[in-house]
Amino acid sequence: AIPLVVSVSTTLAATNGFLVRNRVAFEAARNLKAVIFDKTGTLTEGKFGVTDILAFDSISEEELLRTTAAVEVNSEHPIARGIVEKAGDNNVPRVNDFQSITGKGVQGNVEGKNVKVVSPGYLREQKMDYPREQIEELSRQGKTVVFTIIDDKLAGAVALGDQIRDASKNAISKLHDMGIQCVMLTGDNQQTADYVAGQLGIDQVFAEVLPDEKAAKVKEVQDQGMTVAMTGDGVNDAPALAQADVGIAIGAGSDVAVETGDIILVQNNPEDVADVIRLSKATYGKMV
Ligand code: ADP
Ligand code: MG
Repeated sequence: AIPLVVSVSTTLAATNGFLVRNRVAFEAARNLKAVIFDKTGTLTEGKFGVTDILAFDSISEEELLRTTAAVEVNSEHPIARGIVEKAGDNNVPRVNDFQSITGKGVQGNVEGKNVKVVSPGYLREQKMDYPREQIEELSRQGKTVVFTIIDDKLAGAVALGDQIRDASKNAISKLHDMGIQCVMLTGDNQQTADYVAGQLGIDQVFAEVLPDEKAAKVKEVQDQGMTVAMTGDGVNDAPALAQADVGIAIGAGSDVAVETGDIILVQNNPEDVADVIRLSKATYGKMV
């Protein structure tokens, strides 16, 4: 039988903005020493707007945007949504043979040419040159930069800005008050990640992490001897949510994340993570 105190607090939990799907994990929340947050869509709104378009070659900015958007039409990533929105209905050509390059970008055939839209990390891997100073300056401002490669030649770059959620700062300071370490995990590049982490007072940053490496990063923090929660919204985050002692999914996130989470934040508010821990302590604190 479920102890009365537990069923009462599960009801309380719902009125507090979260749902408990796994009681064992909810109980473990009272011992948390570290909370890992996904960046995009969790600490930030996950709504990217295009801020800069840099055309490197003979290509015009408009042509660059159209060609880039052609490939991004087929992607669900928030970066893709921002680029497609910016291009509007402006004669965006069709794409064939669309493929995603997991954790690094997308590619396809546009008007007979191979077009890739990729991360700075991908360019470094391929040893392709790019104007580093200019790109790093944009990244230090917290912008996410992607590059467009047309037939193996770098054609340009698009910078996008995301909004840090107001609630994120409160979430981090509440967790710090409870003596809990805050960690950020993202596929985005190091400078962009560092900017967001600096704004929020995050203690530890893992950037440029590929989707299939996210769970291993959670394990790395667990191996430092800590009980760990992972908070995320994306399909990419699901293995990390499963690895964590407490997997916390953003309610508005992907179905896969929500189905994997032990706890669901129904109001999509990272601040509610602190309430999860407080309520777990209040419920189980004296039952050890
Ligand atoms: P995150 O969820 O932290 O953004 P992802 O693994 O989804 O991590 O993406 C990591 C990086 O790969 C992005 O920051 C971007 O540079 C690149 N990327 C992923 N998807 C796309 C896309 N559709 N278009 C361009 N770049 C992409
Ligand atoms: Mg995300």
